Amino acid sequence: MSKKKSCKNPQADTKNPNKGTSGTNKTWDKVQGNKGKQMNPNQKSQGNKQLPKCPICKAPVKANNMKRHIRNVHFENCPICDDLVRPNNMERHILNAHEFESKIYNVRQEHNIYNDYKKGMKIHINFSIDNLEEVDCCIAAYFSFQNGETIGSMSDDFITTNGQAVVEKCFSPPYESTRYNDLQLFMPYEELYLAEGYHHHCQFEIQIYINNTNVVIAKSQPYGFSYKKSIHCVAEYFYR
Ligand SMILES: [Zn+2]
Ligand SMILES: [Zn+2]
Repeated sequence: MSKKKSCKNPQADTKNPNKGTSGTNKTWDKVQGNKGKQMNPNQKSQGNKQLPKCPICKAPVKANNMKRHIRNVHFENCPICDDLVRPNNMERHILNAHEFESKIYNVRQEHNIYNDYKKGMKIHINFSIDNLEEVDCCIAAYFSFQNGETIGSMSDDFITTNGQAVVEKCFSPPYESTRYNDLQLFMPYEELYLAEGYHHHCQFEIQIYINNTNVVIAKSQPYGFSYKKSIHCVAEYFYR
């Protein structure tokens, strides 16, 4: 963007070198100065005006940096085939170019478990995942109330960018067809943002997705549980 002198017409300034006064105005000096430079045959092309523009973001980029700029700024590697793909096309590319499958067979919850001196719930997931060998995937449990309203969290480690409580684990399937009989997620009760002294009817849903993408490859039904946070932060649980 070129900087404009506010509230003044620069063309009018150019025509008027302040005749009859000893001084010249700034715009006049600039135009004259630049003219001298432009008339100099030894002048090297410099400045943003001479640089080629990136065809995607229109930013001026040095010609010998253009390939690198386009590659680094405008593309990402597909996590499956490593091809360069525009980030806003990634989801479409993955769904069109690749075939994979994941099935959740069983989800089991265990309550009032201690992990690192924190009381919480352990979720056991039995699932399979095919054709995503060595691809970074994540499995996550998202928490909400049984009316669908999301539950928040106190800590950065257990919250989505939308402010929903989550516990997740990343993994890469070692085989073309991999079965996980008991992958475990642990959610400390204190990380669920719930008012003390009430019975809360909560639920969680399991999702498996390809890491760093929005591609969800498996989704469970919601699993309910009741939970009461007491005044002294001792958790009690009740299955639905
Ligand atoms: Zn660009
Ligand atoms: Zn791909």
